[in-house]
Amino acid sequence: MKCDICNCTDTYIKEHTHEYIIKGKKIEFISKRRFCKNCNNLVYDSKLDNIASKKAIDIYNKKYGISKDSIIELRKKYNLSQDLFSKIIGCAKKTLVSYENGNSIPNDNYLIILRSLINKPEVIYTLIESNKDKFTDIEYNKIKDRLDYDTILFNDEKFTPSKYNGYTKLNMDKVYNMILCFAESKVLKTKLLKEMFYADFINYKNTGASITGLEYAKLNYGPVPNNYEEIIFKCSLKDLINYDVEFKNDFESHFIEKKAKLNKKIFSEEEYNSICKVKKFFQNYNSSDIVKYSHKEKAFTDTKYFNNISYDYAFDIDI
Ligand SMILES: [Zn+2]
Repeated sequence: MKCDICNCTDTYIKEHTHEYIIKGKKIEFISKRRFCKNCNNLVYDSKLDNIASKKAIDIYNKKYGISKDSIIELRKKYNLSQDLFSKIIGCAKKTLVSYENGNSIPNDNYLIILRSLINKPEVIYTLIESNKDKFTDIEYNKIKDRLDYDTILFNDEKFTPSKYNGYTKLNMDKVYNMILCFAESKVLKTKLLKEMFYADFINYKNTGASITGLEYAKLNYGPVPNNYEEIIFKCSLKDLINYDVEFKNDFESHFIEKKAKLNKKIFSEEEYNSICKVKKFFQNYNSSDIVKYSHKEKAFTDTKYFNNISYDYAFDIDI
């Protein structure tokens, strides 16, 4: 190795204190570098230089970004290859590989995506849908096979009985079958989501427990199950329903219709009766009727927007 300044080939290695500025942040650390014996300037040494720059990136990522280990851990949690995962988050495979190897710092866009996946793993379903045209059918099916929604989203250990889940542990099979009940014939998604709310709350009123264990939140157009987008998406991945979006006069209508057979036996008699009662009560309501109806509930008026709705309000519901 040769010094670029004085051409001397006599060099030595010593510990050197680095000060890098990465994206406006000062990174300071010590690593081994090569120096010229004659003029004491830094001499280029690809091996040592690489180690130093990797160290800098690692320190930055851990302190201000996302460590390479968290990225790998996240991808493994989804059980996805680098190929598929990079497509879902919208970057090139080699970009993801370089993040995972600690050779580069995720740019701000990917940082936001990766962070939101770490905080809310179910966001992956929204990403898959919005990048759907990037996948071939084979890839899409592979993703479908690999992702296990229930373990991503609902961790059994997390269950604590509360007034927000109706003191019932979430049962996804009941969720799916409840959807099959309400979507026996083609139904608008908005109506279906309200009917789920009513069925769980009415059952709570009658028995002191919700049917599914779902939590419901107050959104603009009424009470809806938390994570409802992911739930509906999962139903179509599992081939339980047909999910169609129709466009008419600049207006989108989301229709759901059951495709699979209902497993009635999963419900207790009381639970099934609650579902039937709700179905019968709202049979002639269209989407906006039921939205209007639900807006009058105390469960809706007394809850703040985007907050979870307490099952205590079930006792004010009268259908
Ligand atoms: Zn020199």
